Amino acid sequence: MRAQIEALAALQRIDQSLRENTQALQAGESRVAALTEAVQAHETAVAEIDAEFTQLTARQRELETRLAQVESRMKDRRMRITRIRNDKELGLAKREVELLKEEAGGLEAELIAILEQVDAVTNRLEAARAELASLTSARDAEAATLRDTAGRLSAEIERDRGRRDELVGAVDGDLCRRYEMIFSRRGGVAVVPVRGGTCQGCHMHVPPQLYNQLQRNEQLILCPNCQRMLYWQPEGEEASE
Ligand SMILES: [Zn+2]
Repeated sequence: MRAQIEALAALQRIDQSLRENTQALQAGESRVAALTEAVQAHETAVAEIDAEFTQLTARQRELETRLAQVESRMKDRRMRITRIRNDKELGLAKREVELLKEEAGGLEAELIAILEQVDAVTNRLEAARAELASLTSARDAEAATLRDTAGRLSAEIERDRGRRDELVGAVDGDLCRRYEMIFSRRGGVAVVPVRGGTCQGCHMHVPPQLYNQLQRNEQLILCPNCQRMLYWQPEGEEASE
């Protein structure tokens, strides 16, 4: 049993390294994926605000053109008024100038409102672009970090898998399955030493009647508290950890 437990302890070191490297790789990948998603969402937002800006500035130019036309017509009519001698014609021309003045006033009011909206949209657009730029550079940095580490992590995972295959051959099949079940249910720790009378998995005291059984190494002993596989480790023998 001693040799089997030692083989399982060695397997566990490899499985822990595999688990750690796989999780690190997945965490890196999901950080990049989350940032990429955020970048895409912000690109859409920027495009929407940009479309709003284009629409508003088109409306602004249209109003400015119309206002300029009305003002030029007004100027033209006012110059003509100075040359009119006929009262009826004068009245009509003055009325026309009044109407043009009203139209210009309406256009000006609308233009002012549009200019305020253009200002507000410009601010929103700048803020959204700044946010997009900072997200994009965060994503690029994260992707660069992942590129740097992914190669090393993948190589380690590959190496550990090879070693694992070798070790699994040396362990009894049933024992190996029990180990794997405990490993996945107990946070990646299935085989633990008993040191100073304490299970090093859950740090609970192991009943003294188990000591003798543990020291004899004849059968598989599980911690009565955490159900992990136990092996005896005398005081001061921690160097192999
Ligand atoms: Zn325990």
